[in-house]
Amino acid sequence: MSEQPALLALRCLQCNTPVPAQPDEVAWVCATCQTGLLLDETNGLTKFAFHFADGIKGTGRPVWVAQGKVALDRTSRNLLGKDGDAERFWDAPRQFIIPAWSCGVDELVDLAIGWLQTPIGLKAGPAASFLPVTLRPEDARPVAEYVIVGIEALRKDQLRKVEFILDLGEPELWVLP
Ligand SMILES: [Zn+2]
Repeated sequence: MSEQPALLALRCLQCNTPVPAQPDEVAWVCATCQTGLLLDETNGLTKFAFHFADGIKGTGRPVWVAQGKVALDRTSRNLLGKDGDAERFWDAPRQFIIPAWSCGVDELVDLAIGWLQTPIGLKAGPAASFLPVTLRPEDARPVAEYVIVGIEALRKDQLRKVEFILDLGEPELWVLP
């Protein structure tokens, strides 16, 4: 048995190439055979699909992408400003895109809100290099919940209280330009 910490002993499940893992990272693509790998507290290291969007030049940005259906119950301070935008917005399932690289909380929330308000089409493209993946897939849900509150607080009817149930699909890892 190796006495090295587990992170330093990671090897590709497909070809046994050592994975140069940094302590904060949770997912990699093997440099030798391009197998995607995810480190999970319950399952350990597993094979895992990476998706690359079209148009990456240089280093791509990894994100978690999940479909979410939100059942919303909100009350506003200003009933005159209430125009049903929120109800219409959440009527359909929404595509949540959560930055998975290491960025500040403000940037993370701004980007996630922007991508929720203005959905981007995800078209598969060739594999590319990408920033280290540091957000675990199980953390996509708390971020998505935070983003829902953020988006509701931005509406002009002055949110007083919001409650919701989020039905979030399994997050997929995409690398964006
Ligand atoms: Zn490999």
